Amino acid sequence: MRIIAGIDLGGTAVNYTFINEREEFLIEGLCEHPARSKEGPTVCLQQIADGLAIAAAKAGVQLSDVVSAGLDTPGPASATGVFSARGSTNFVHSDWSGFDIRFGLEAKLGIPVTYLNDGNAGALWGHFSIFGASATATSISAIIGTGLGGGVIVEGRVVTGRKGFGGELGHVLIPYQSIAGIEGIRPECNCGRTGDLESLCSLTAIEKTILPYFLAKNPGHELNRAGDKAAKLVRGMAERGDSLCCEIFRVQAHALGLFFDEMVNTFDPDALIVGGGAIETGAEFQAWFVDEIRAGMPGQRVEQADIPIVIMPNGDTAGARGAAIEALKIARR
Ligand SMILES: [Zn+2]
Repeated sequence: MRIIAGIDLGGTAVNYTFINEREEFLIEGLCEHPARSKEGPTVCLQQIADGLAIAAAKAGVQLSDVVSAGLDTPGPASATGVFSARGSTNFVHSDWSGFDIRFGLEAKLGIPVTYLNDGNAGALWGHFSIFGASATATSISAIIGTGLGGGVIVEGRVVTGRKGFGGELGHVLIPYQSIAGIEGIRPECNCGRTGDLESLCSLTAIEKTILPYFLAKNPGHELNRAGDKAAKLVRGMAERGDSLCCEIFRVQAHALGLFFDEMVNTFDPDALIVGGGAIETGAEFQAWFVDEIRAGMPGQRVEQADIPIVIMPNGDTAGARGAAIEALKIARR
């Protein structure tokens, strides 16, 4: 049986998975190895290869059966895996500047390697979890983390775009002024836009904009005394029913609702998918969040009103799994 590896390279960890041709994953949870991205490409690529051998042994896979690999990393990188010459947050060593990591890993491993950015890989996993690898369905995935990532899968294919920026959903502007309860707010994104999806729907948005907005109106709230840690406490407190923290999540859900409405009218997709650390919560809170997304969407056409809104499963393995699925699709062509 031919096996395909998925390799999710982050700033601090590499996460591995394996998939066979029956589309079965051979590792259930996380299989992590420390990343050495800071030390530059030569050290990092060797570390990835060493970790792959360890992961294969853990999964009971012969390395000689691994016929190709899918790689994903944070950007900015081109659609084919060439890092920006201007550098990036996770790949600061000067040798990364303009480095072709897909080609470099292919040379190191001696097998074909495909490349996706981490948001697009996560989106492909979300899509696969509903439709499988060979489906021709269309889906939009929004992944809420420090920023807002995700991707667009049109008829089974990842939209990577001309320069690799396809699916940069966080920087799509939304009509946030129509969200009730945040009158006068000014959501500024690190990208320079005001009122894009990431500026309202991310951990950074909570920290920079939404939490300070609500705390100013509620000087007695305990998070006024939580200092730097306050934003990270919001999810847990919302899940326990704190009304101010629930309001913050309602604002984020309504922002997503406005964004998804734009996507419904652009793509008429088969599913809308939400993932990321923000909704790694109990099922009850997830169901409430999905209901609030729907409540935040303008009225839909009768034909589209039943569009599924789905929480992405196994979120922490999404990048590696999506990368593996991309390589599996290419291997089948
Ligand atoms: Zn932005």
